[in-house]
Amino acid sequence: MEQAALFTIFGGTGDLAKRKLYPSLFRLYKKGSLAKHFAVIGTARRPWSDDHYREIVRDTIKDLHPTKEEAEEFSNHFYYLSHNVNDTKHYDQLKELSDRLDEEYQLEGNRLFYLAMAPQFFGTIVNHLKSQGILTETGYNRLVIEKPFGFDYDSADELNEQIRNVFPEEAIFRIDHYLGKEMIQNISVIRFANNIFESLWNNRYIENIQITFSEALGVEDRGGYYENSGALKDMVQNHILQVVSLLAMEVPTSFSNKSLREEKVKVLQAIRRYDEEEVAQNFVRGQYAAGKLDDKEFAAYRDEPNVAEDSTMETFVAGKFMIDNFRWADVPFYIRTGKRMTEKGTRINIVFKQVPVNVFNFEQEETGGKELPQNILTIYIQPTEGFSLSLNGKQIGQGFNPEPVKLDFRQSEEVTGNSPEAYEKLLLDALNGDGTNFSHWDEVANSWEIVDRIRKAWDQTTPEFPNYAAGTMGPDCAFELLAKNDHEWAWQP
Ligand code: NAD
Repeated sequence: MEQAALFTIFGGTGDLAKRKLYPSLFRLYKKGSLAKHFAVIGTARRPWSDDHYREIVRDTIKDLHPTKEEAEEFSNHFYYLSHNVNDTKHYDQLKELSDRLDEEYQLEGNRLFYLAMAPQFFGTIVNHLKSQGILTETGYNRLVIEKPFGFDYDSADELNEQIRNVFPEEAIFRIDHYLGKEMIQNISVIRFANNIFESLWNNRYIENIQITFSEALGVEDRGGYYENSGALKDMVQNHILQVVSLLAMEVPTSFSNKSLREEKVKVLQAIRRYDEEEVAQNFVRGQYAAGKLDDKEFAAYRDEPNVAEDSTMETFVAGKFMIDNFRWADVPFYIRTGKRMTEKGTRINIVFKQVPVNVFNFEQEETGGKELPQNILTIYIQPTEGFSLSLNGKQIGQGFNPEPVKLDFRQSEEVTGNSPEAYEKLLLDALNGDGTNFSHWDEVANSWEIVDRIRKAWDQTTPEFPNYAAGTMGPDCAFELLAKNDHEWAWQP
């Protein structure tokens, strides 16, 4: 159904707007979610004209192969305003333009403000939206903001205070683009639509859960940003803890935004808060040295552009979260993420416990003894999407020799290629006022609290970096972390 709305994109000339937002808006346009009654105001510092802006917008959608008329019609909905976020006068111009477009396109006072800019500007922008009367009385006013949401608990809290002075929580859409991904959303369907899984989804049957977010790329040209963030804040605070909470939450009473969020927050609250010593036992970090993979040579992190030559920033984290509740007591949730690893991939492995007795009394090569290979449910999130289940079957032939078999389901490239891109889904959710796939403040706050403790403990000591070669699955300590508990990473490419 067609949605009537005015988008105001702060940072309209930036990378995110060009790479993600404009193509996603175009896809929504092609599908009819946006049609006649929408307009987009792009604002940024550069002095562009509407014509130039429209040309840029058309350029960003050319890979989607629009016809000439389509591209023209779509881009005619775009308006540009040169704007410095600190200058009050510019907001008056923004108000004038917004009101004019509202009338012209019959937008019913619905406004969506997208802050595709660095977070230090968020407070100033939202204050001006209020003080200069840019928020409407007739329709909705929604705020979409990008990560990072603060750089620790205190800064996130301060940022939140500023925003909440102007927008109520239900009108704030904090983007975590992983939550827009098909297979992340599928975690809930796999769990709650399959009795065979949900009835086993607890500490009686699951031995451990493993979450890997690996990247083959290095830090590329983002050295400046990464030096202030590192893998812990860049990945664990947001994406990984979101996945942990989706995997571990209780069954919500209904699949609604509110019930889901309540359950996710309970998980985050139940994650054990580590003291310094526990951090040292349960979390390890790494930084990549130069390395070689498939005949390609890669430079060390410290030799990347805009990185200090004695940098102690981590490019890899592995850790063990414990969730102190009835369902998960004693089940480790192992996580790892890093750059310049062997392969790009996001996957989850649910490792089930052994059967109580192996009646087949058969020497298994894989386990080097009498234990049967464990059942593992693997959820593939990217680059391929799907899931697989490893079971034990009987080897053909004499006797009862069990052997592992794998039931494998991967979405075809055609299907995944046609599925909506994460940003497209999230933009449509924001238009519909559906916050299910966004992070609520309570989730952000709890995640920072957990991550701050790790960061603080790490800041007390100087790591011996670099400690893993580019092109590997991380430092030895990440393997030892599991070996201590007689576990091992199920995914070892
Ligand atoms: P960018 O540097 O490419 O763009 C920043 C935009 O802000 C530009 O349009 C610039 O003109 C504008 N701007 C800067 N200072 C301004 C001022 N004083 N007044 C008016 N406009 C000003 O950044 P980006 O990569 O597009 O990222 C934007 C935000 O999104 C950042 O917070 C980033 O962390 C986040 N983010 C980006 C990506 C991505 O893929 N690029 C992914 C996740 C999150």
